[in-house]
Amino acid sequence: MKLYNTLSRKVEEFKPLGPVVKIYTCGPTVYNFAHIGNFASYIYWDLLVRTLKANGYPVKRVLNFTDVGHLTSDGDEGEDKLEKGARREGKSAFEIAEKYIESYLKDFNLLNLTTPDVLARATDYIKEDMMAVDEMTKNGFTYETADGIYYDTSKFPGYADFAKLDLEGLKAGARVDFSSEKRNAADFAVWKFIQPGEKHEMRWDYLDRPGYPGWHLECSTIIQKELGEPIDIHTGGIDHIPVHHTNEIAQSYALGAHELAKYWLHCDFIMIDGQRVSKSLGNTYTLADLAERGFSPMDYKMWILQGHYQGSRNFTFDSLAAAKNRRLNWRNRIALCYQKNIESTGAFNSILEAVSNNLNSAEAFAIIDNSVLSLEDWRKVDDLFGLNLISDSFDIDDETRALIEERAYARAIKDFEKSDQIRDMLALKGIAVRDTADGAVWEYMV
Ligand code: AMP
Ligand code: ZN
Repeated sequence: MKLYNTLSRKVEEFKPLGPVVKIYTCGPTVYNFAHIGNFASYIYWDLLVRTLKANGYPVKRVLNFTDVGHLTSDGDEGEDKLEKGARREGKSAFEIAEKYIESYLKDFNLLNLTTPDVLARATDYIKEDMMAVDEMTKNGFTYETADGIYYDTSKFPGYADFAKLDLEGLKAGARVDFSSEKRNAADFAVWKFIQPGEKHEMRWDYLDRPGYPGWHLECSTIIQKELGEPIDIHTGGIDHIPVHHTNEIAQSYALGAHELAKYWLHCDFIMIDGQRVSKSLGNTYTLADLAERGFSPMDYKMWILQGHYQGSRNFTFDSLAAAKNRRLNWRNRIALCYQKNIESTGAFNSILEAVSNNLNSAEAFAIIDNSVLSLEDWRKVDDLFGLNLISDSFDIDDETRALIEERAYARAIKDFEKSDQIRDMLALKGIAVRDTADGAVWEYMV
């Protein structure tokens, strides 16, 4: 199996560190409903887990829910997204976290995503966060400002390496707000103090003051506690490379674990009309929005898997309709397996090989389109991609089968009125009958 690695900027042969592949996925900030952009990453990483398993690797995967500390700027300025959500809805920040975690889990289920082995909430790791800040301070990596405890990035010689950052450019103030107390432009808060009068409901006493962890810290402490460094694979969006993942790597270094992850995978963005799908731009769709337009979560998953995680993708409803049709076509090929004995030609091996090459599901799909697959092959395809192809393609019942035979008889005796009547009855069941040279074949209509 081969994977692109952000560390080396190359596609590499995957070599696990131990008997169980340890994977960490930077999860969502739970202050609003998830949209099609967010789902893209979770679909890609679900494919990663399924592909590893299909290649015989046992996997332990951790996904976090950020329910504190992620500020609207992604840096150290702005409002905590959870507090903002609470204000918007007149709820407590804890209620907001509860509501949107539940909503995420419901959507993960609708998308048939493999449940991670550990679902970790940032607020369940506060004690570990404090211990980590103590440790980084003891090791000489932090300093205190009026605003919080900051990581001194000049203490980590490799800070710029991962993202190939231009630290001189940062110093010039081009990309980062330069608070007067920060020693270096890229320094970041590992712990934030809550100022007198500041509204921040989620708060914990540390260093005799109320505060909360910096956004990047949770991933380091959760990884340390649930998986242990180094892990095999760390995943996220490309937006995580310059700040969030760079800072996670820096924290690990300060905590004495000099390697955080062996492989780093990042997915590119879903776009609409050349702009990133994002809540702040107001161009998002939820699964419910897609359902209103007649598209199922599986249609969207099909659309995502037609592309590659490293490419940015332009979303349109026309292309979603094409993905839906392609999935319907595959389901009708499964329907044909119920009607004829279709033997395996061994194509599944080529499908698995294609997707094992840096998750090239697009090529695997082209092989599926152009190969003869048995019902058993389709089951394997379904396990690999999680597209609910089999569960959405039930064989017809005896009553429907009898109707199809009746229709054939009506046509044979040229009773077209009767055969049309039966066609309409079948249509009510979502079944169409196509007359071919080999006789009638039934298919799903939707
Ligand atoms: P957000 O809640 O908007 O900060 O998004 C959380 C994560 O979802 C981001 O860090 C990205 O990795 C991912 N994400 C957000 N928008 C998109 C998008 N348009 N395409 C792909 N991934 C996205
Ligand atoms: Zn993270």
